Amino acid sequence: MGNFQQQSQTLAELFSHNLVHLRDMGLVEFLTYLFVGAFAFILALYLRKANRFRFVIRAPSSRPVQVTREVFNSALSVVLYNTVQLAARMIALAFGYIVTLGVHMPLWEELLTFPLVMVAHDAYFYWTHRLMHAAALFRFFHWEHHKSQAPTVFTAYSFAIPEAIMQGLFGVFYVAIFPATFTTLIVFQFVEILHNLAIHSGLDFFPRTLVAHPRFGWLAGPTYHDIHHRTARGNFGLYTRFWDRLMKTEHPDFLKIHAYIHSPQNDGRAYRLLSRRGSSTPPSGASAPEVAGG
Ligand SMILES: [Zn+2]
Ligand SMILES: [Zn+2]
Repeated sequence: MGNFQQQSQTLAELFSHNLVHLRDMGLVEFLTYLFVGAFAFILALYLRKANRFRFVIRAPSSRPVQVTREVFNSALSVVLYNTVQLAARMIALAFGYIVTLGVHMPLWEELLTFPLVMVAHDAYFYWTHRLMHAAALFRFFHWEHHKSQAPTVFTAYSFAIPEAIMQGLFGVFYVAIFPATFTTLIVFQFVEILHNLAIHSGLDFFPRTLVAHPRFGWLAGPTYHDIHHRTARGNFGLYTRFWDRLMKTEHPDFLKIHAYIHSPQNDGRAYRLLSRRGSSTPPSGASAPEVAGG
């Protein structure tokens, strides 16, 4: 397997070596999340209060209880991600292997790991996300995230413990199967956090051409994921619309709502355009989510 090497190492050595990496990862996650999140949060509040709706998906609504819950869940998720990684390294060690990131990889190969990890995560997210929407799994895994029907940046990592573990396992699977260096994982983590904050921010600054153009529009931006929170129907993809389009799970009103949000007519009430076909259907097992804004 790609990043494993058979070698004798004590548990104490594993800790002293890997805790440094995990501390760095944790720091990148926490600091990016906190600073970028706070900036996006304030920008969203400002634009909504100023009644400037050009890039605003929904009209303002104040939900301090929701934000408190989300910040608590998000902090716990970051801890869990790193716990999962450490647990995986300990399990590998139990079988006599250590994780050897960043050894002897030519530059061209390292450069290729960046698109590879994004493509792999896009697929992992789509399929695990879609699975968690199955009636039997939804409440246990994914309901906590969907309690925020009108998400904020702090919804990004607001998961129940089982879902946080599921999300954290991606790094383990990726490292076990695909080539990676430590830089691959740091850059991936950074891009992942930025994207996740953006799609929960309630603001959509993504270039329209890359989202909605019939030929070049493959990105799944903030409107895409916001509709997913609003209706709990379709739009399971994270970075791209690829899997949703392939599997015919894209929300039927997505393009219409996206066009409206980016039009001069946008008054913060784009969800008036939801058709009966695409309107809210809370997955079974879920009771009423928190009231949505706009
Ligand atoms: Zn979400
Ligand atoms: Zn979902």
